[in-house]
Amino acid sequence: AQNKRDSLYILLNFAKESFQELLWESEEGKSIGLSYFKERGFTDESIKDFELGYTLSEWDHLLKAATAKGYRQELLEEAGLIVVKEEGKVYDRFRNRVIFPIHNVSGKVVAFGARMLGKDKKQPKYINSPETELYNKSRILYGLFQAKQDIRKEDNVYLVEGYTDVISMHQTGIKNVVSSSGTALTEEQIKLLKRYTENVTVIFDGDAAGIKASIRGIDMLLEGGLNVRAVALPEGEDPDSYAKQLGTSAFSHYIESESQDIIRFKTKLFLADAKDDPVKKAGLIKDIVRSITKIDDPVKRTVYLKECSDLLGISEAVLVAEQNKILIQQN
Ligand code: ATP
Ligand code: MN
Ligand code: MN
Ligand code: MN
Repeated sequence: AQNKRDSLYILLNFAKESFQELLWESEEGKSIGLSYFKERGFTDESIKDFELGYTLSEWDHLLKAATAKGYRQELLEEAGLIVVKEEGKVYDRFRNRVIFPIHNVSGKVVAFGARMLGKDKKQPKYINSPETELYNKSRILYGLFQAKQDIRKEDNVYLVEGYTDVISMHQTGIKNVVSSSGTALTEEQIKLLKRYTENVTVIFDGDAAGIKASIRGIDMLLEGGLNVRAVALPEGEDPDSYAKQLGTSAFSHYIESESQDIIRFKTKLFLADAKDDPVKKAGLIKDIVRSITKIDDPVKRTVYLKECSDLLGISEAVLVAEQNKILIQQN
């Protein structure tokens, strides 16, 4: 089995290098892929650091190239690089897309994310490798390999939604950033982060629905014992678009000055929603207290309860009683 894993790593590295070569050297790659990245404002350095690539619009370019090098079709299939149909039809999984290699913590490629060009509404914007022997998506964080030293140095990690957010923030000089690539954060990913830091700052894309959806994942970070802060971006912006709009120093300043403790963030967010509706407000109070009880440290919990009492205009005693009720139900 070790042999198999080694072969898969070698093949994925071959594919990565082939996608890079197509991006930098083929006519199609240069005129479509490279110019796409340049139009998005990515520098050569970023494109190289993240080993970005391009796949041709042909059906079987990689299949042919890899087969010619002696890689067997079964291995290509197990690496998630080709699709084999029941009728026996075989073709490259990634075609006519720009490629974002996904690395494990030691920098080996385990999978690819691939973005379409143009706006063909019939296809998904991003497609990814399927899970394989090397790629378990709940255990991988995009950008961790490139970020890990800076996460240690800064003793903080920024968590963003997408590939391009990671790359743009890097380019801005904020290198302690990773992405769960559009999926909900998992326990394994949280454990992985904890090897490097206990401090996480979540940057939410600026759409209300998105924030409300991802805020649920936050309780998991709290349960994991992490200190969590959050920043919301203006409506319609994500870290990539906003970094490009503001430029390096204004963006860094925004992130630093707007980030606030997650409990405070959540309380304010929900309070704005509940306003004068007592039923909603009661629901909100329970929700916030439930988040607070995820925190193991009783001293931290007390500080939070005090602060929420101020923000919500509810006596601390009521919040403590609610907390105790939840704690008793749990034990
Ligand atoms: P871009 O700026 O290139 O349009 P984005 O990163 O801003 O992309 P979002 O729509 O914000 O894209 O999605 C965030 C992340 O979710 C993406 O980077 C990608 O990892 C993942 N994702 C988005 N759409 C899909 C999809 N159709 N299938 C799988 N993953 C997706
Ligand atoms: Mn989004
Ligand atoms: Mn984007
Ligand atoms: Mn986005």
